[in-house]
Amino acid sequence: ASFLTMNLSRPLQKALTTLGFNKPTPIQVAAIPVALIGKDIVGNAVTGSGKTAAFVIPMLERLLYREKGKSAAATRCLILVPTRELGVQCYEVAQKLAAYTDARIALVVGGLSLKSQEAALRTRPDVVIATPGRLVDHIHNSPSFNLDALDILVLDEADRMLSEGFADELSEIIKACPKSRQTMLFSATMTDSVDELVKMSLNKPVRLFV
Ligand code: AMP
Repeated sequence: ASFLTMNLSRPLQKALTTLGFNKPTPIQVAAIPVALIGKDIVGNAVTGSGKTAAFVIPMLERLLYREKGKSAAATRCLILVPTRELGVQCYEVAQKLAAYTDARIALVVGGLSLKSQEAALRTRPDVVIATPGRLVDHIHNSPSFNLDALDILVLDEADRMLSEGFADELSEIIKACPKSRQTMLFSATMTDSVDELVKMSLNKPVRLFV
């Protein structure tokens, strides 16, 4: 398998070369082509499998090159993660993959100043990476921020988000997203509560077990 056969745009190809990602990992081989055509995905990938790039690559490709369209600045991609640390890691990978694009990415997690995050959200970044608790704070308190134009939702480490106690925040956020969107859910384990989340948030998902 190769990234070349995925027909990615030049800025993404260039980022992969810079990062030294020569060969896609198994989850990337399975997920990227399916995600590029807009299908919902459930995957069981764990940290270390390359799952971040597996959803960030098709997300950037669709956002910037394949589904461009909407012209006003708006948040079109949301990545939810269970912890601040995973948010920082995801943000770093996403920034590197987007290095040669004009995508604007914001990190919204606990422990960072609410005020500076609010200022970042007011510019309507294309991609928001957030923990559910902190994002709900902003939905309640930042009148200029909303998810009305969202195209792609990623629920990363869904089992951990549920075990961290974010079930209510997740359902509130999902309800604030447009019904017509792409959703990708990744989870190391498939518990009953993860299954419930899948039923609540995904539409005819393709199940990827790598
Ligand atoms: P993740 O599972 O998303 O936390 O990624 C684990 C590590 O693998 C990160 O440091 C990535 O930069 C790296 N990585 C992801 N995809 C590839 C790839 N195709 N080739 C080499 N390294 C990769």
